Amino acid sequence: MQISIVIPVYNESEGIDELYRRTMTAISSFSDSFELICVDDGSEDTSLSQLIDYHKQDPRFKVISLSRNFGHQSAVLAGLSVAKGDYIGIMDGDLQDPPEIFERFYHKMKEGFDVVYAVRKKRKEGLVKKFAYWLYYRLLAKMSDTNIPLDSGDFCMMSRRVLDKMLTMQEQSLYLRGIRAWVGYPQAGLEYERAERFAGEPKYDFKQLFRLAYNGMFSFSSLPVRVMRRLGYFTLIFSFLYFLKILISYFLYNDAPQGFTTLALAIFFFSGVQLISIGVLGEYVYRTYNESRERPLFIIKDKYLNE
Ligand code: UDP
Ligand code: MG
Repeated sequence: MQISIVIPVYNESEGIDELYRRTMTAISSFSDSFELICVDDGSEDTSLSQLIDYHKQDPRFKVISLSRNFGHQSAVLAGLSVAKGDYIGIMDGDLQDPPEIFERFYHKMKEGFDVVYAVRKKRKEGLVKKFAYWLYYRLLAKMSDTNIPLDSGDFCMMSRRVLDKMLTMQEQSLYLRGIRAWVGYPQAGLEYERAERFAGEPKYDFKQLFRLAYNGMFSFSSLPVRVMRRLGYFTLIFSFLYFLKILISYFLYNDAPQGFTTLALAIFFFSGVQLISIGVLGEYVYRTYNESRERPLFIIKDKYLNE
């Protein structure tokens, strides 16, 4: 098997005909040994039966279904875990990642790269969302200890050795694009224009987007804890200076300290700082607990792989 393409699908019934047609055409135009692996992430609509119908027509179109909705990252991981190809690609099931670009990825890989990821040059989304993405990727790049490329998502192609390494890292707070960067080997970005959804509504809600964003920050940066310590230093120095000021005004100007407002503000401010710090600590404690349970990240219900 030369190429595997993993495609997570969650309630995409309106787009599946187009997904099948376009992706098949795009990949078969440059490879004669490939598989497309659609992962049905517990869809509630007819997506799964539509996918299975296509599988019956064409065995190169493979399907696995999960026991419930596990979320995009877990669905992709499930697909990756059964992929057999030497070159493995990931794309979204809503055709926002144009499958025609895999040919460019593939040629770039042949130049000696282990990962070729897509870099979004343009996004066709609302202004607020665009700005939020823009800001997030820049913040993450500043914060993170791993070099995670700007404006690139999961849309990529990678080599077998990169995938095998990724599969050994079963992190609960999965952030695939981060692990992919972490693995290393020669990696290259290719620019593309992110299309609009072919059909249907976005399946990621705001909460899920935030969770993914948090995973990126907490899994690839120690900044949240370091910020707390710095705040601690900062307030210590500040309180020392304030103490000096009080001493000076008392001894030099005979001005006894007064001011309920200052006191109340200080208490409010530092209570806030402490609560946030405890929250950040709690986040780490929870993440440690979550990792230690080692629950599987997905459960495969059925496989249509014709092995
Ligand atoms: N998806 C999934 N499980 C989910 C949510 C989304 O498999 O719980 C799939 C969805 O079908 C799509 C891809 O992940 O193929 C990206 O989702 P979406 O288009 O909603 O995300 P966005 O493009 O807004 O980042
Ligand atoms: Mg999408």
